[in-house]
Amino acid sequence: MCWRSKSLAVVALLAATAFNQTQSQEGSTKNPATSETMQTNQKKFGLVIHGGAGTIDRSRMTPEAEREYRAGLERALAAGYEILKRGGSSLDATEAAVRLLEDDPHFNAGKGAVFTSAGTNELDAAIMDGNTLKAGTVASLKHIRNPVSLARLVMERSGHVMMDGEGAEVFAKENGVQLVDQKYFFTQERWNALQKIKEAEKSGGAGAKKFVITDQDRHGTVGAVALDRQGNLAAATSTGGTTNKRAGRIGDSPIIGGGTYANNATCAVSATGDGEYFIRATVAHDLSALIEYRGMKLEEAAQTVLDKVAKLGGSGGLIAIDAKGNMALPFNTSGMYRGHVDLDGKFVVEIYK
Ligand code: ASP
Repeated sequence: MCWRSKSLAVVALLAATAFNQTQSQEGSTKNPATSETMQTNQKKFGLVIHGGAGTIDRSRMTPEAEREYRAGLERALAAGYEILKRGGSSLDATEAAVRLLEDDPHFNAGKGAVFTSAGTNELDAAIMDGNTLKAGTVASLKHIRNPVSLARLVMERSGHVMMDGEGAEVFAKENGVQLVDQKYFFTQERWNALQKIKEAEKSGGAGAKKFVITDQDRHGTVGAVALDRQGNLAAATSTGGTTNKRAGRIGDSPIIGGGTYANNATCAVSATGDGEYFIRATVAHDLSALIEYRGMKLEEAAQTVLDKVAKLGGSGGLIAIDAKGNMALPFNTSGMYRGHVDLDGKFVVEIYK
């Protein structure tokens, strides 16, 4: 079922198994798995992840590939969920989930990053703490295996919000992060996608070979948003950007208020799609602002900002969770790798509409 048409207000809270004795006594006449009871429970928590709106065309998705994508998303959900379940922070949960997606070559982040037109890999990432509004972001990294963790170090240790390129990598080294060779990021599939786009650019005119460039050839990103038992929201996003981007190009993922945002007063957001449009539409902050200043509900606000992107000519999707645990996962592409944990602690992973 399409997320756009589905109300997620009730599937938002994960704490069904998390009630302690006192709390379940307080709500003893109610089913602990109803949202009404959960609203009064301070220990609710929630997690949503995405693996990008650059999905493989449905007609070309093999059962084996689908299993692998789903397994990758489930692993990331499990990592974040375990942290939240035992009372850990939304920052830790989003970082852990994103790190696993960065290590998985199927997704365009970390290991599976796409190539620039120069044949290099340049990675962007961000993390934001909705409690303090502190944020850390990194861009144009060439030797960092887990950019999301460097973004967190920037937030916690640099005194800055955003760092890029060599300077960010020097800071990484100083903080004990091991740098990896660019070869680490080589995957044949991403290399082939670059060649295909370059060929398509070169070809043209009557009789020229037609190259079909899919969403998956072009882009992708990974992200996570979470609400922890302390009521704190966090968002994290990491990406290789867009295939064939110019060296030095930075997308929306590390732009606070563009592709990433978190604010306890409203929501946490992580986006994926044509970064230039997401930046221009200030997607993540707009979503938050619609809730803060207009009192809009999460799902409507999420759809509103995505429609703004579409009006500019961009496509993609986003995940968001609000301070009550409501979730929204809209997209206007043919699919978006995504998942959340439902009321009963069951992992829900979906790819297409
Ligand atoms: N938003 C990413 C970027 O523009 C790419 C994507 O999510 O597809 O860098």
